[in-house]
Amino acid sequence: MLDWTAVDTVLLDMDGTLLDLAYDNHFWLEHIPKVFAEIQGLGLEEARTQLNAQMSATQGTLDWYCIDHWTNTLGFDVREHVRNTAYQSSARPQVFEFLDFLRAQNKQVLLVTNAHHVVLDSKLANIDLRPYFDHLVTSHQFQAPKESQAFWFSFARSYPFNPRRTLLIDDNETVLSAAKQFGIEHLITLRQPDSTEDIKTNTLHPAILHFDELFA
Ligand SMILES: [Mg+2]
Repeated sequence: MLDWTAVDTVLLDMDGTLLDLAYDNHFWLEHIPKVFAEIQGLGLEEARTQLNAQMSATQGTLDWYCIDHWTNTLGFDVREHVRNTAYQSSARPQVFEFLDFLRAQNKQVLLVTNAHHVVLDSKLANIDLRPYFDHLVTSHQFQAPKESQAFWFSFARSYPFNPRRTLLIDDNETVLSAAKQFGIEHLITLRQPDSTEDIKTNTLHPAILHFDELFA
């Protein structure tokens, strides 16, 4: 599916790619609505409705991913809830075997995430991905999400790479389309970012279920 001799640089998303998105979905769709409902004295359904309205207004922007934004908007310390629940996050199947493979192949490997630094730090404290990466990059350092061209131009200036010889693996297909527009040659998405959800059969970009399809 992929000619590794044509790839020098591998860019890997974190949530839904290396880590199971089940944690994030549970955090945002169950845990946070419950806390918000308790604090506001609302029923759970009313809390969900209010949250959904606020969240859909920011989808695809950096605020959507910004824990400081949600702390200010929701009126309680979302950072604390991230720190206290991140132990529940887990790696997707074959992640460490794949990262070992990339190391053995001497690829330049970067973690490129939209996750806020509080989320990144909390998850890395639970699952230490650091040793496998040349750099860990969050889009918050460029004030632009991976969905935007602004991100890719700023990122490429700070971490030079040849887009024609680069692979991006990301469960977010809007991000993959933005990367394609920027000129990144090799793009792969995931069929099951959340282990508790159905396997996707229709994707815009080439897709894998698990990483063994790339290195076994
Ligand atoms: Mg993701």
